Amino acid sequence: MSSKAAQGRGLLFIVSAPSGTGKTTLVERLVHLVPNLRMSRSYTSRPARTGESDGVDYNFVSRAKFAAMVEATEFLEWADVFGHCYGTAATDTEALLAAGQDVVLVIDVQGARQVRTRGIETVGIFVLPPSAAVLEQRLRGRSKDSEEQIVHRLEIACREVAEFAQYEYVVVNDEVEAAVERLQGIVMAERAKVKLMRRDAEKIIETFKHGKATQRKPV
Ligand code: 5GP
Repeated sequence: MSSKAAQGRGLLFIVSAPSGTGKTTLVERLVHLVPNLRMSRSYTSRPARTGESDGVDYNFVSRAKFAAMVEATEFLEWADVFGHCYGTAATDTEALLAAGQDVVLVIDVQGARQVRTRGIETVGIFVLPPSAAVLEQRLRGRSKDSEEQIVHRLEIACREVAEFAQYEYVVVNDEVEAAVERLQGIVMAERAKVKLMRRDAEKIIETFKHGKATQRKPV
């Protein structure tokens, strides 16, 4: 168990990036590498793609069920992204944070804005592609979308990247391993902050007091 977990609430990380930047791959690798870090599972009204399963990639729900959850204020944040609804359940996230787990929300810029507006303490990370041309290449390369959808995704990307300065960190996904390393560095730096390490540090400081430190003769 990390010392931070012993001290209480987990940290809430938000990772946003334009579609096609590869943020989900990066975060999946990150949570695999870093203990005590969990990726939140969102609810969505979009149908599952081939290879995706309910309760693993997303909680897939009907539009009606999603609307009922919105009505019942069950979401910490939610947004309509490319015509489908996506949301983070408040109770799921709160349970993990309360248990001392650090949580990563991989959500779009609208959702990130909502979480910030609620005054919740977060660590925002914006993942950028190396350039618009590289993003376009990646969107075309994954051959998931029609030409019309690619143009639409690029238009939305133009608006999204303009929000990078609302986040605490920027990571450029030029090369997957390097980008994951940078993300890992951010998590470790946040965990090492004095406000989280205070109790551990104080215990160590205590060993220096009241003559507890062993007096050694200089060699
Ligand atoms: P996809 O359909 O490709 O899995 O995701 C489309 C977009 O929805 C991505 O930008 C992703 O980050 C965003 N998204 C996924 N889950 C959530 C969520 O819970 N809330 C918000 N606001 N966006 C989400």
